[in-house]
Amino acid sequence: MSFQDILGQEDAKRLLRNALRKNAVSHAYLFTGPAGSGQMKTAQTFAQAIFCTGSADDACGVCLECRKVQHGNHPDLTVLRPDGASIKIDQIRELQRQFSYRSEGIHPKVYIIEGADKMTVQAANSLLKFLEEPPAPAVGILLSDNSSSLLPTILSRTQRIPFHPLNPELMLQVLAEEGVAAPLGKCAAALSAGIEGCRELLAQNWFAEMRNLVLQLAKESMGKSSAAVATAGQKLFKTGLGEHLDILFSMFHLWFKDMLNFLYRRHESIVFIDQLDLISRHAPQRSTEQWVNYMEAAAEAKKRLRSNANAQLCLEHFLIRLEH
Ligand SMILES: [Zn+2]
Repeated sequence: MSFQDILGQEDAKRLLRNALRKNAVSHAYLFTGPAGSGQMKTAQTFAQAIFCTGSADDACGVCLECRKVQHGNHPDLTVLRPDGASIKIDQIRELQRQFSYRSEGIHPKVYIIEGADKMTVQAANSLLKFLEEPPAPAVGILLSDNSSSLLPTILSRTQRIPFHPLNPELMLQVLAEEGVAAPLGKCAAALSAGIEGCRELLAQNWFAEMRNLVLQLAKESMGKSSAAVATAGQKLFKTGLGEHLDILFSMFHLWFKDMLNFLYRRHESIVFIDQLDLISRHAPQRSTEQWVNYMEAAAEAKKRLRSNANAQLCLEHFLIRLEH
């Protein structure tokens, strides 16, 4: 791992490498930006660079410290993740206990908190003093894709490092080099903020299956077969795809947008590039206004799902809206 292996995120890399070079690494950072844009990889690389004895502002990849991080067994690096839906006060207390001792090397210890916005209020409050004045030299890296839900007291005690969504063209290029087929790659790139997010989606068995299902449902909803649509919906829950409804709605959003891309002759923007024939037949069957309405329906369904509405009802509601 090296900063050079991280795609994009030039701002973040510059800020962190400057801090390393100037020996001005602070107590606590907050990496914010969309999920999948590479926060975890950057945090691990930063930790490795802090420990590294071979380079001043990067991780050399060959020294003992670097190798320990790469093997996942560096004693001075701790990664904390939500236990279930939240990060609990006991986890923070355990972290503080571990970090009350100095590292054996000359470097500070490093802890990474993934999903920092999922800390309970008690956990966050318990972290405050520790963030600012760790008992032994320590660097905290908090990761969040939803920093607006962090306590202001946490925000004010951390240095913010912004992450941005990566250009999809850049992601596609990398995926193509890795041998990912263009139709799936385009879909993953359109749904992800970074290459890590893409790879994660593509590694899921259900991802290609979901894309096929969206195509099947899209075809059936254009016919008059609402019974067939309902059956497909039921199948979704039986096969376990129902757990990833958010991706289904996102894919539908892309599909409807493709209709607009076709109608406006923006062929280079089409995501479902292997379906040009189907798109050319579907797109003229609705007005642009209707396609926009469908996009809104998909966005709303996703929002409703996120606010914990019943998944099956969300899907039914959405599919009914497509009949009009
Ligand atoms: Zn090194």
